[in-house]
Amino acid sequence: MSRYVGPSCKLCRREGIKLFLKGERCFTEKCAIEKRNYPPGQHVDTKGKVLEYGLRLREKQRARRIYGLSEKQFRRFFTMAERKEGITGTNFLVFLERRIDNMVFRFGFATSRKEARQLVSHKHITVNGKTVSSSSYLVKVGDVIEVRHKSMPSVVNALESVVRRGVPSWIDLDKDNMKGTIKLYPTREDITMPIKEQLIVEYYSR
Ligand code: SF4
Repeated sequence: MSRYVGPSCKLCRREGIKLFLKGERCFTEKCAIEKRNYPPGQHVDTKGKVLEYGLRLREKQRARRIYGLSEKQFRRFFTMAERKEGITGTNFLVFLERRIDNMVFRFGFATSRKEARQLVSHKHITVNGKTVSSSSYLVKVGDVIEVRHKSMPSVVNALESVVRRGVPSWIDLDKDNMKGTIKLYPTREDITMPIKEQLIVEYYSR
C-alpha cells in the first residue's frame, strides 16, 4: 500500500481523535475535529457495532496514521519488534519513535511528521555530522541530530512553538544551535500518544 496523499483532517475524523498531522493548525479552532467530530462521508453509521477485528484494525490504522507510514513500512517495523527480545508492543513503539523523521518532529524542528520527512528527504538534517536522507533511519543513544542550515524560516518558526508541545525527557534539545541529542531510548511511559499497542500485536498475530 502506498502512502496516503489525501486530506489529513479526514484521517483524524475517521479515527475520532486528533492525530496532529497539520502542525500549528491542529492547535487552533480551525481543527476539523473541533468542528466536525464524526466520521467523513455522507452515510455515516455511528451506531454500528464494532467487532473485535474492527477494533484491532482501527487501532493499527490509528497508529500507522499518527506516524504517517505505509502499511509495508509499518509491518516491517512490527516484524523487527517481534524479533527483538522483550515486549513486542513496546519494542514496536520504541522503533517508531526512533525514526529520524519522528525525532526531527520531537525536537521541534518541524511542526508535523510530514514536514519533518520533507526536511530529511531534502537533506537538511545531519546525524553525528553526516547527512541523512532516509526517513526510516533509526537513531541510537548518543546520536546528535542537527539542522544544517540554521536560517531556515520553517525551522525557526517550528522551534518557536516547541515550548507548547514540550520536548520529551529522553532527548536533549539545544534550541539555539538547532541540534539535539538522544539521551536514552524512551520507555513505554514516555510514549504518550493514545495507542493501545496490544491490539496492534493481536491484529498482526491473527
Ligand atoms: Fe487532525 Fe490537525 Fe486536521 Fe485537527 S487540524 S483534524 S488534529 S490534522
